[in-house]
Amino acid sequence: MTYVVTENCIKCKYMDCVEVCPVDCFYVGENFLVIHPDECIDCGVCEPECPAEAIVPDSDDKATEWLEVNRTYAGQWPNITRKGEPPADADDWKGKPGKKDLLSPNPG
Ligand code: SF4
Ligand code: SF4
Repeated sequence: MTYVVTENCIKCKYMDCVEVCPVDCFYVGENFLVIHPDECIDCGVCEPECPAEAIVPDSDDKATEWLEVNRTYAGQWPNITRKGEPPADADDWKGKPGKKDLLSPNPG
């Protein structure tokens, strides 16, 4: 079991989630965060912290297509444990559908 970061995080990247994770299993890309599925202890603490409602348990239908994205980039991007500065236009992108193609593969 793991929690999964989904499309809503793209270009929002508020990072409230990273501060509360007890095992520091978030990894940061240019415009997205991921959770390492093998490190997450399934505590659920991060889910209500996300202003974009981007974090879901892997039992959620929305998680299916994002689980492998989280696993892949967790192996490529740097670990993040402290909240940084969110993008200036984060609120403009909050809740917008169809952001999947905007996901940057670059590390943050
Ligand atoms: S709080 Fe939500 S939107 Fe912000 S970085 Fe974490 S998952 Fe992404
Ligand atoms: S569910 Fe818990 S362990 Fe997993 S990413 Fe969220 S805060 Fe970290």
